[in-house]
Amino acid sequence: MIRVSAADSPWRAQGPAWTWAHAANRFLRHHNAWILISVFVVTAIGRSLAGPLGFSDLIVAAAFIAYQPFQEWLIHVYVLHWRPRRVFGITIDFELARRHRHHHSDPGDLRVGFMPTRTLVLASLAHALLWPLVMPDGALAWTALLMVATIGLVYEWTHFVVHTSVVPRHPWVQRVFRYHRLHHFKNENYWMGVTMHLGDRLLGTLPDQRAVPASPTARDLAKAVGAAPTEVTLA
Ligand SMILES: [Zn+2]
Ligand SMILES: [Zn+2]
Repeated sequence: MIRVSAADSPWRAQGPAWTWAHAANRFLRHHNAWILISVFVVTAIGRSLAGPLGFSDLIVAAAFIAYQPFQEWLIHVYVLHWRPRRVFGITIDFELARRHRHHHSDPGDLRVGFMPTRTLVLASLAHALLWPLVMPDGALAWTALLMVATIGLVYEWTHFVVHTSVVPRHPWVQRVFRYHRLHHFKNENYWMGVTMHLGDRLLGTLPDQRAVPASPTARDLAKAVGAAPTEVTLA
């Protein structure tokens, strides 16, 4: 594996434990953060111009929050840990999966932990086309888009900060950090949620970590899924 960021790169949390402010400062130096913040601001303005909030907005927001643990679980299990397969001589693999395999082999490189920017832009465009078609009116379409933007930003920030050396104080935040670190450093087949773990709880991937053997492939996902070692690009 080729390391994307040098050993002394500021994209690696080194030295004394980072503060939240230091982590936020570093997060804001990545273009994904600015794309997500821009989309959040645009959708917040769009929703505020679309009229007052009503009960149906609450239902839409609650539905997005309720689905998010399962979305994280499904994407992590079936896309990020995708097992490349050959169909009619062509290898089916995804940029997201390649990047995630590199992320498992070098979890200390904060740049590799960001989702591929191309995926982020394409997903944003897909949502912008989808929700106006699916929702009964423009205001609810803006609500849906605002939820997508908020959840995307929270997800990217949470995943980023979990990989820094920030030491959280709140027990709930400590648990979020611990679960994702167990996924990376103990066994890659468990703890598939990142911001929420209801999916893990209901789908059987939130065990007592003392009962789980350390996996030899937690740092070598390519081997676990039978993929050729690949180099990542940070596009
Ligand atoms: Zn991670
Ligand atoms: Zn993973």
